[in-house]
Amino acid sequence: MTPRVRFAPSPTGYLHVGGARTALYNWLFVRSQGGTMILRSDDTDEQRSTPEFAADILDSMRWLGLDWDEGIDVGGPHGEYRQSGRLERYQEVADQLVEDGSAYSSFATPEQLDAFRNEARAAGTAPSYDGRFDVDQDAARARIAAGERPTIRFKVRRPGKTSFHDVVRGEVTFEHNQVDDFVILRSDRTPTYHLASTVDDVDYGITNVIRGEDLLSSTPKHILLTEAMGAEPAQYAHLSLLMGPDGRKLSKRHGHTAISAYREAGYLPEALVNYLALLGWNPGDDETVLPLADMVERFDLGTVSKNPAVFDTDKLEWMNGVYIRELDPGDFVEAVLPSIEASLDRPLTLGDRVRLDAIAPHVQERTKLLTEAADQVEFLLVDEVTFDEASWSKVMTKPGVVDILDAALERLAALEVWDVEAIEDTLRAMIAALEIGAGKGFQPIRVAVSGSTVSPPLFESLEALGQDESIDRLNRARAAVS
Ligand code: GLU
Repeated sequence: MTPRVRFAPSPTGYLHVGGARTALYNWLFVRSQGGTMILRSDDTDEQRSTPEFAADILDSMRWLGLDWDEGIDVGGPHGEYRQSGRLERYQEVADQLVEDGSAYSSFATPEQLDAFRNEARAAGTAPSYDGRFDVDQDAARARIAAGERPTIRFKVRRPGKTSFHDVVRGEVTFEHNQVDDFVILRSDRTPTYHLASTVDDVDYGITNVIRGEDLLSSTPKHILLTEAMGAEPAQYAHLSLLMGPDGRKLSKRHGHTAISAYREAGYLPEALVNYLALLGWNPGDDETVLPLADMVERFDLGTVSKNPAVFDTDKLEWMNGVYIRELDPGDFVEAVLPSIEASLDRPLTLGDRVRLDAIAPHVQERTKLLTEAADQVEFLLVDEVTFDEASWSKVMTKPGVVDILDAALERLAALEVWDVEAIEDTLRAMIAALEIGAGKGFQPIRVAVSGSTVSPPLFESLEALGQDESIDRLNRARAAVS
């Protein structure tokens, strides 16, 4: 039997890094086994589900390169793969379970339930309803006919227990006196998560459920429901939760949580996927930079750790830098172009492109986020540089700057060949003649042409800028200094 897995996000929020890791582990598992990846939408919460979140989830999945074979947008033999379109199916199953005696109509009022829960809490047990609100079927039918609206609860047999082998966590057992007679259908006949999720898993023939550890305590309920439907439970794997470096549950305070925010911040999907894959899984040889195809080859769900994994944006940023450096220079330019054009607020001209292409390899070397590139190259693409105030006062107000700029102007204007080698030779000869160090000698030139003390390498920057423009900028700075 080839595996069938599902990723089942609720469109009540953006796809966040924890959800993306769950999607990725499902994907790696099924791609390494040659099975079917299904994407469904757990959208029964009408209040909190929005089309924007639904779209964000699909966009983020596609951007990460996590494709699916069946489900939302791509279709398949099971209809739309949206829970909101399957309410009748859930009601049908719930009614059937009542019919079979696996579930019952409960007419308990909220007050009765409150009193009962308090009692259980005082006794230190989980509220096990013990048939307390169970009425016989004929009586229930009569009350429903008279207009009452019961909830439907699953009847958990007690004493008893449910055990299963979790692929990540090993043997897991829940005693039934810790599992309440959970609601499967609310009094307005909408399904709870437990019912909708289990019916979908059964109907779609899911063989492996890989999901977050926060859902571990739901699993005995899902297994009991599955068995009551006469089906075979899936094999379960619960992934540990993600923590920040401070050991606390991952949240906004640790940085972005939405995948789309990482995309906007200048991360490459390949780097993010690589990083997420290693949050709990180790390919075995301490290798950290591993392209997706290699991961598929080596992924083994059975070796995933059950310990919480630390999501560290510094490490992610480092990995992003590694992936950026590995890009073809042309792909790097394509990748940074949108943010450069956005920051200039205009499309690049042909001349801009020539300068950008010339400097790009040197920027690529030192870029950890695609969005940083715009700042680094902007000076090459504007008519006039804006001098950064801090850089100016730190460098251009020092004694000797006029002499340096005059010397540089004279030498650079005299060059007959304008390339990195010639520029470097003459500027090194200049500092030797002036008997000053490279820091002191080159910083004024850097500030004059780029506006700032931080720029791509100086000789390459001058080459990309061109001789005339470099001379103009030096002249302008020279005039401003004196
Ligand atoms: N829709 C649930 C969630 O977003 C996941 C359901 C499941 O994996 O069983 O948390």
